[in-house]
Amino acid sequence: MHCPFCSQTETRVIDSRLVANGGQVRRRRECASCHERFTTFEAAELLMPKIIKQDGKREPFDEDKLRNGFARALEKRPVSVESIESALNSVRHYLQALGEREVTSMVIGERVMEELQLLDHVAYVRFASVYRSFQDISEFQQEIARLQGEPNKAPLAQSDVPVPTASMAGADDPRDADGDTTKNRAS
Ligand SMILES: [Zn+2]
Repeated sequence: MHCPFCSQTETRVIDSRLVANGGQVRRRRECASCHERFTTFEAAELLMPKIIKQDGKREPFDEDKLRNGFARALEKRPVSVESIESALNSVRHYLQALGEREVTSMVIGERVMEELQLLDHVAYVRFASVYRSFQDISEFQQEIARLQGEPNKAPLAQSDVPVPTASMAGADDPRDADGDTTKNRAS
């Protein structure tokens, strides 16, 4: 690559090593002309698929949006940042492994629900109640009952469980989610 200081084309690698658990190569380079040194990082670029929204629009995958979706569902829940990042990684990896150029936002939403269910049942119910917009109270209660029947998880306190309402479900289509369950409320 060209020298970032003098734009000369001749640079040589003087050191090369693996970093980020082998996910990147760090190279120390020196310009043959001005002798300035600089560092480059090389990593594989795995492309994320484009997201197909409910209305058919395509938009780039937005990791911040996904992170916000997790953060909202997990607000004030005893879940570490590291666990959330790990869930995010899992969603990202899942999307990359699909090998598709485009996926629907529903694919992401479903995957987010799976991750939340592993992380925290309250967060899962929060997300699912908006995202799946349970048809009626009995369907919602069935889901709660199913979760409470699962082993190794703290039972849901009644106060933690939101009651599904029209406003929670959003005015139009809450399933246009990819982790973001609030943006439809304003419209
Ligand atoms: Zn140079």
